Amino acid sequence: MWIVPESAIPGIVDAQSAFDAVEATFAAMARRDAYNFPVVREALGEGRQYGFKSGLDRVGGLLGVKSGGYFPGNAERGIPNHQSTVFLFDPESGKPTAMVGGNLLTALRTAAASAISIARLARVDSKVLGMVGAGHQSAFQMRAAVRQRGFEKVIGWNLHPEMLSRLAETAEELGLPFEAVALDQLGAEADVIITITSSFDAIVKDAHVRPGTHLACMGTDTKGKQEVEAALLGRASVFTDEVAQSVSIGEAQHAVAAGLLAEDAIVEIGAVINGAHPGRASAEDITLFDGTGVGLQDLAVASKAVELAVAHGLAMEVDF
Ligand code: NAD
Repeated sequence: MWIVPESAIPGIVDAQSAFDAVEATFAAMARRDAYNFPVVREALGEGRQYGFKSGLDRVGGLLGVKSGGYFPGNAERGIPNHQSTVFLFDPESGKPTAMVGGNLLTALRTAAASAISIARLARVDSKVLGMVGAGHQSAFQMRAAVRQRGFEKVIGWNLHPEMLSRLAETAEELGLPFEAVALDQLGAEADVIITITSSFDAIVKDAHVRPGTHLACMGTDTKGKQEVEAALLGRASVFTDEVAQSVSIGEAQHAVAAGLLAEDAIVEIGAVINGAHPGRASAEDITLFDGTGVGLQDLAVASKAVELAVAHGLAMEVDF
């Protein structure tokens, strides 16, 4: 069994390898070669959350679980509040094959999902990237997104303006100008909008968004969370990683409950990757990707991390 510690991940898994691993997984899900098991999530008290995301890719040979959660007391201990670890198993024998640090991988696989949606669904002439949210994930999201189109400018909004410096610094690192804007300006100028917040109310309103926009809605991963107005999903072409999660814990939960969007109108992004669905219908189409985060994404990037860590001599082998 291999152990790949969190400290080894930054040097081995980059945005491109995460993109490739997650894209292959979404394609396998749409072919029904791979599926996710029901998510377990428990409140432990004092704000602590703990859970499991798991799945099987029969053809890709992946079986495993990401275990982890949110531990708000960690900041005082000098360690990140979000903690996760991925365990991989041999799908034939059930024998454990690897234990992999999952914190950075979570950010990389989440950014890869929205980047895949941009690559597959955004207009090819997209020039302005709009960011809603400026937390930990936002920098990873921006870095992965700018690789997909010839963006010339980043604009951003955040409920807590003091956090906008993260977006400004990340844009600078990427050599792009950044401007903090109001939400109506963001909708009027952005060709692609990424939402990555912990919001429980719609931030981006239907009236903000112009025809031709692509949205990657990445923050809503729990029942009750919401980032965009339900009416927007009613007029958009809606895509997702997994329909079951989209309608229960994703952004589509609100539009489906309100009768504005039919569950069977939501398209798995894997079908676009596989060529079974054409994706964007026209330059005027509003496309919206509801990225809920599935266990198979975690297994895919963890498996890639093991492969690269072994090749670079950064994995420890344990007789287990
Ligand atoms: P963070 O705590 O670092 O940042 C939170 C962000 O949300 C900040 O921009 C903050 O200003 C904003 N925010 C907080 N409360 C808000 C409110 N009430 N209304 C509007 N905005 C609010 O978090 P993060 O690590 O950047 O994660 C952001 C979100 O992404 C979280 O909700 C997290 O659960 C989600 N997430 C989703 C996936 C996925 O696969 N879809 C993966 C990882 C994280």
